[in-house]
Amino acid sequence: MAKKILVVDDSEVLRRITTFNLKKAGYEVDEAVDGIDALEKLKGFKADLILLDIMMPRMDGFTFLKNIKSDNEFSDIPVIVLTAKGGENDELKAKRLGAIKVITKPFSPKQLIDFVKQVIS
Ligand SMILES: [Mg+2]
Repeated sequence: MAKKILVVDDSEVLRRITTFNLKKAGYEVDEAVDGIDALEKLKGFKADLILLDIMMPRMDGFTFLKNIKSDNEFSDIPVIVLTAKGGENDELKAKRLGAIKVITKPFSPKQLIDFVKQVIS
C-alpha cells in the first residue's frame, strides 16, 4: 500500500509541485494550507510523513509541530520541515521541536524524494 504524505504549505505553487513529484514517486498525498488546516486533515488522513512549511498564516509550522508532538495520536508521525534560505535558527528550532529533518528551499525534486525515502521507505 502506498505511503501517505501530508504536504503543509501556504504556497499553492509549492504544494502543487511537491504533490506532483511525490505522486510521481508513488506516494499518496493530501495537502493543507496552514497548521489549522493540517490538524483537521490529520483526523481523516493517516499520514506516514508530514512535509511542513514554517511561515504560514493562522498557524505556523512551529506551532503545528508543538501541537502534534504533544498529541499521543500524532506524535510518532515523522516531520520534514521546509525552511527558507538563511533560516539557521529555524532549523535549530524545528529540530528542537521534533522535526526529523530540515530541508532548505529551494530544493530539487530529486533531493526531496531522496529525503523522503530516507525517512519512509
Ligand atoms: Mg510559507
